[in-house]
Amino acid sequence: MGKFTQQELDEVNKTLSTPEDCLKWAFDNLHPKLAKASSFGAEDAAIIDMMFKINSDSRLFTLETGRLPKETFDAIEQVEQRYNTKIEKLYPDPNEVEKMIEEKGLNCFYDSIENRKLCCGIRKVHPMNKMLATLDGWITGLRNDQNQNRSGASMLEIDEMHGNIVKVNPLVNWTFDETWDYVKSNNCPYNKLLDQGYPSIGCEPCTRPIKIGEDIRAGRWWWENDTNKECGLHMNHDN
Ligand code: SF4
Repeated sequence: MGKFTQQELDEVNKTLSTPEDCLKWAFDNLHPKLAKASSFGAEDAAIIDMMFKINSDSRLFTLETGRLPKETFDAIEQVEQRYNTKIEKLYPDPNEVEKMIEEKGLNCFYDSIENRKLCCGIRKVHPMNKMLATLDGWITGLRNDQNQNRSGASMLEIDEMHGNIVKVNPLVNWTFDETWDYVKSNNCPYNKLLDQGYPSIGCEPCTRPIKIGEDIRAGRWWWENDTNKECGLHMNHDN
């Protein structure tokens, strides 16, 4: 059972207007069992900056899938230095990774959606679930205009998929431009892949830049036609 009900959070949501309001509520009510999942895209960069301005003991974690691009490691180091913090790295179970590679191959995710979901499950979803089971709340970079699956979210929501902890979405009402303006005007460290046309950042073999006019997540698992491209971390907005 989580600390709050959706009804209680709905009442709080009515009182929040800015991302900082949302984060302050989260720190007051959930810290230190509160952490931000980060891949250092624009949303993460802005939220991380806001978090450390509110609380210097903010907790960040990242999924070290074993297939991340160099630029993400650079961003991890820059964020650690800038905010004088240590990002918690979540690693997959090596036995699960070894079994998958032995049975299906190193790049099996290109072969089928089933294999891709298996790989995301092992490298992302399982470590994430283990981490979330220790928390009362987690902070995401969701924005309602990101894609059709993510619309309709509120700043504070019960995460039914993860033990009814609180899912904190400070930027839910912001556009990409508002987010990027914040990143630039506050000189926030961010993943330099953003400058190369990657608006959605993930593992190196599964992410590519997008063309002008393409959907913001078209660069993820680009070889799949399925428009419902999620790795399972935000699945409660998929249905
Ligand atoms: S994004 Fe690709 S490499 Fe990363 S966990 Fe998913 S399928 Fe595996």
